[in-house]
Amino acid sequence: MKPRVGVLALQGGFAAHAAILHRLDVRVDEIRTAEQLAAVDALVMPGGESTTMSMLLERSGLLEPLAERLDGGMGVLGTCAGMILLAAEVVDGRADQHSLGLVDITVRRNAYGTQIESFEADIAVYGFETPFHAVFIRAPAVERVGPGVEVLARHEGRPVLCRSGRATVAAFHPELSGDGRLHARFLDDL
Ligand code: GLN
Repeated sequence: MKPRVGVLALQGGFAAHAAILHRLDVRVDEIRTAEQLAAVDALVMPGGESTTMSMLLERSGLLEPLAERLDGGMGVLGTCAGMILLAAEVVDGRADQHSLGLVDITVRRNAYGTQIESFEADIAVYGFETPFHAVFIRAPAVERVGPGVEVLARHEGRPVLCRSGRATVAAFHPELSGDGRLHARFLDDL
């Protein structure tokens, strides 16, 4: 049976993720409520603004059910703000911003901001035969990677794609370069 994949649709770049997933022939649901979350097999947490998304997760009553599903081993792909929300530790976050703490990494919000706000780069991704075009938009920097976390790609030495159990997190926006390989791998790993 085709997996049913949710895209967290409270805020941010969910539509482009949904479009890529549609191309990969899975059933895609936009997730805004706990009932919708309960119906999917896996979840994509898009980029956007992690502080706003954190607040909306709380207001929508999704925060606790989401934490429970993640604890239960649901597959999740978090990109940019999604990566921040899934990280164990956030530097330069807002004091009231929630962290789901699923992936044992430390991320610094908007870390690339002082250099250039946004940039693109071709990066080598473990297991891909050709480079992946990565779009970074006010991206978080991964400053620490815990022992159980695999680094699947780096940019200038810094981890930008990590996997831990059934969670994959990217500092960049894989949904914006028209390349479905990362989403396809995420689905294969489910
Ligand atoms: N800077 C944003 C944040 O802190 C993330 C940017 C993005 O998702 N493109 O949430």
